Amino acid sequence: MSQPSWFTEAHEASGSSIGFRTEGLLHAEKTPFQSIEIHKTTDWGNLMVIDGCVMLTSRDNFLYHEMMTHPALFTHALAKRVVIIGGGDCGTLREVLKHEEVEHVTQVDIDERVTRLAEEYFPELCDSNDDPRAELLFDDGIKYMAELEPGSVDLVIVDSTDPVGPAEGLFNADFYASCFKALRHGGLLVQQSESPLAHLDLIKAMRGAMRTAGFNALKTLPFPQPCYPTGWWSCTMARKGGDLSGFRERGAATKTFATRYYNVDMHKAALAQPEFMRQAFGE
Ligand code: SAM
Repeated sequence: MSQPSWFTEAHEASGSSIGFRTEGLLHAEKTPFQSIEIHKTTDWGNLMVIDGCVMLTSRDNFLYHEMMTHPALFTHALAKRVVIIGGGDCGTLREVLKHEEVEHVTQVDIDERVTRLAEEYFPELCDSNDDPRAELLFDDGIKYMAELEPGSVDLVIVDSTDPVGPAEGLFNADFYASCFKALRHGGLLVQQSESPLAHLDLIKAMRGAMRTAGFNALKTLPFPQPCYPTGWWSCTMARKGGDLSGFRERGAATKTFATRYYNVDMHKAALAQPEFMRQAFGE
């Protein structure tokens, strides 16, 4: 391995950067969709970077993956059929499969190389990929959702890259309308919604587009994520019918699987809205 150096992601929008001390570039390639790098860091395990943006590190991805999944799965009464759009590193898939009520999960990532590299450099995230309930497809999530049978899904999780490049079309009312149509009554959409500190306008636009598509209840849940710009991230949940005022607290309190961040109290904490978010969302 070479001498330590630093991988830095400069984030223009917030005038800040995030960096990791690295001791080697393990892999770099350009796929038809994006460029992917895997770095070995000195303290954060392996680091995946797509188009210059940090995707995940071995050390802190549990925060994101647990918050993208368990709040939604403990909000839905009984999510049997789940679709993940993006999520090629398979960390979200692994968390979804911890729920026994889930009968089938389809993960649709546009870029198969992300999954193949995750299998090699983040094997702990891929250890449930052989679960008979899991189906891995490599296709455009926009097209997949548009063609899905109406009323056939309980939960759609959009675990995508930022709204540029292939993921741009995953952040607008047309895409949300496809999700709305594919969901059963009471179904949920949850999407990674960037940093409340740096991307509040984007979150407001996403929420507006979700409402335009027909979703009647919305909730943006903030959570810490050190490896992303500002170190603070969010997911936004939207419901087709029903509300988002509560969740299955008893189920969450007596969950039969291990988590490292998610528990019933962290779920409640994430539902509390900081003052500036309340004002921004008119809540
Ligand atoms: N946690 C990460 C974050 O917020 O930065 C996202 C991780 S995951 C690796 C993002 C995935 O979205 C990538 O693997 C990328 O290939 C996928 N993706 C981007 N656009 C897509 C699209 N239109 N359809 C399906 N997958 C897409």
